[in-house]
Amino acid sequence: MSLSPSKKMKDFLKEVFFRLLPKFSLSKDRASVLMYHSISDRQDFFSAVSPEVFNKQMAYLAAKKREVISLAELIRRLRAHEPLGGSIALAFDDGSRDNYTTVFPLLKQYNFPATIFVTTGLIGNPEYCSPEELREMHDSGLIAVEPHTLSHPKLAALPRADADHEIRESRRVLQDMLGVTPTLFAYPYGNFSEETVSLVREMGFAGAVAVQEGTVNPATDLFRLPRNSIDRSTTFEQFRGKVSRAIDRYVSLKALFHL
Ligand SMILES: [Zn+2]
Repeated sequence: MSLSPSKKMKDFLKEVFFRLLPKFSLSKDRASVLMYHSISDRQDFFSAVSPEVFNKQMAYLAAKKREVISLAELIRRLRAHEPLGGSIALAFDDGSRDNYTTVFPLLKQYNFPATIFVTTGLIGNPEYCSPEELREMHDSGLIAVEPHTLSHPKLAALPRADADHEIRESRRVLQDMLGVTPTLFAYPYGNFSEETVSLVREMGFAGAVAVQEGTVNPATDLFRLPRNSIDRSTTFEQFRGKVSRAIDRYVSLKALFHL
């Protein structure tokens, strides 16, 4: 298999920036949201990060005294025009059961807040969190449990009424379970259209996260918050890049070269 020129170029840029810049923390007007899925040794999940690697990443943030804030706090700062402080926010998509068994104890240890975006149709399936587990995490005050649709569809491909149902019903399920109205939303696959964004906004959510790479800055649209994906292929150097100035340089250079 031969690599396309643009893939080669991307790899080259990644290599350069992620090697040279990680020692520079994010600038004070920015924040980086990290997106995880499963934290486990499962080989059938490309996105799964092993517990050892995840622990090493959290230990790095703690050792560097990086400020880890909740997504709700990030949105509050954006709305209040307060400095983002080069902070980090953690998000976990889908509601995989290891988020409770592995991630929750670790985050308690570090006292790092996080948001879990749950595909509500999967709740109670043995590989996903149960209602009791979600409630316990929510009640801890450390973890925000927010909706990620009922069945994880590509929302942009759905008729408006179906997209509305997917979003609204997943919010209702969590509201009934937790006794509070969810305020954040994650688009499955980071897939959305203008219509999806207006649906989410009109439903009264405070913000929504996408999967576009890059950092949050004062001009970021609250309904298109970028996230930097961390998966099994992410090297430690790349992880450091994604919580530093390197990710911004990489994203702007990528745009320059139309990659
Ligand atoms: Zn998802």
